[in-house]
Amino acid sequence: MNFSMQLKLLALAIVLCCPLVLPGQINSQKTNQGFIFLPNTTLLPTTQITPSGITTDQPLVTSDFCTTLEMDTAEFKQLPWYGDEQYLDNLLDSVGYPFPNGNPCTNCRIEDGVRFRIPLQFWVYNNNAGNDLQVPDELALKEAVDRVNRDHRNNNTGIRFYIRCGGISQVNNDGLQDIWDFESLNPPFNRNTGRFAKGPINIHIFREGGNFYNPLVDAIFIDRDNGLDNTLSHEIGHALGLMHTHFHFRWRNIPLARRRFVEPIDRSRNRFSLVRFRNIRICSETGDGLCDTPADPRLARGHNRFDDNFTGCNYNGDQTDPWGDEYDNPPAGSDEPDPENLMSYGQGCRDIFTREQIGVMIHRIERGRYRHFKNGYKSQDVVFDTFELNDNAEQARLLPLNNPEELTFHKSYSRSGSGVRYG
Ligand SMILES: [Zn+2]
Repeated sequence: MNFSMQLKLLALAIVLCCPLVLPGQINSQKTNQGFIFLPNTTLLPTTQITPSGITTDQPLVTSDFCTTLEMDTAEFKQLPWYGDEQYLDNLLDSVGYPFPNGNPCTNCRIEDGVRFRIPLQFWVYNNNAGNDLQVPDELALKEAVDRVNRDHRNNNTGIRFYIRCGGISQVNNDGLQDIWDFESLNPPFNRNTGRFAKGPINIHIFREGGNFYNPLVDAIFIDRDNGLDNTLSHEIGHALGLMHTHFHFRWRNIPLARRRFVEPIDRSRNRFSLVRFRNIRICSETGDGLCDTPADPRLARGHNRFDDNFTGCNYNGDQTDPWGDEYDNPPAGSDEPDPENLMSYGQGCRDIFTREQIGVMIHRIERGRYRHFKNGYKSQDVVFDTFELNDNAEQARLLPLNNPEELTFHKSYSRSGSGVRYG
């Protein structure tokens, strides 16, 4: 028996002989009135998608909130970065992250640091006559995409989005006004064609019904009245593989098997992993699986059914985690919950992606669900000129009547003497 084997046996003996170290005390200091638990969070088969089945907590949320289906524990544990922080580090290294970031792009025609350009396809649902003027028009959609790109630019994700050529389709159908109408279609979804064709990210915009990403059909559903702000960045974040920062929090008061997925506030908490045969930080296999997003007690700004204790964009609730640490007064070296994270429910505060979140999004493109399209996403055919937006249909804006248009001209000089050319 070699030394390594002896070590392994010793570790096994310790684990078998000693009680497992588990979060000892479940805090009951404050009951979240909005807390509910539904034991079955397994993804539903497509045919079972109903208004009540689309989300585990639909009855409690308003359409302001994202009702994206959450992955089950088996899927969560299969994430390559589950319990292995090095994975995302290596991935980011392999793509040359951090990218050069010319932000703001002051003296460049082509933005620095853009590695992936993902096409978007909008489906806008109108009435039979197609005359409901409340549906967002092309300008509103392009401005919404501008906001998403601003979030990605400011966080140097290397990812940008554009509405693909012909990428705004209006569907005139009284029977498809609300998201619930859509789900009741029979057969419900054809996952690979038409409105769910792969390649672009499909975004369906309805009159009502909440905002969410549905992983079964890999599409985003948006409420036209409240989903085109930073919520669109949030939903696209889901499409690119990101979980809520409060993922698993609601399991804090239920049996141990699930409670072990509740994220500790303290980043230094670790446990010995027999599988990896070393200590790993618990934050890497709990919550959203990322250690650079602080533990989040399901904060939700402006919604008293969740934890809406805020001063501005600063969380100040009094909940504690299963280890007894206070979210609003975290141990040294750990951070308070961050309502500015785009994957939280911080609503108007949200504008941050963390480094590991960027790694997850890049993973989706390089190695995950969207890997088959990565060559297209990297294509130089969709590199845009940041000076002259009207050079291409994807970026060009409709101009409202009587509004002045500003154009930037670039001068170049021809040696042969014909003077100045503008392009
Ligand atoms: Zn969400």
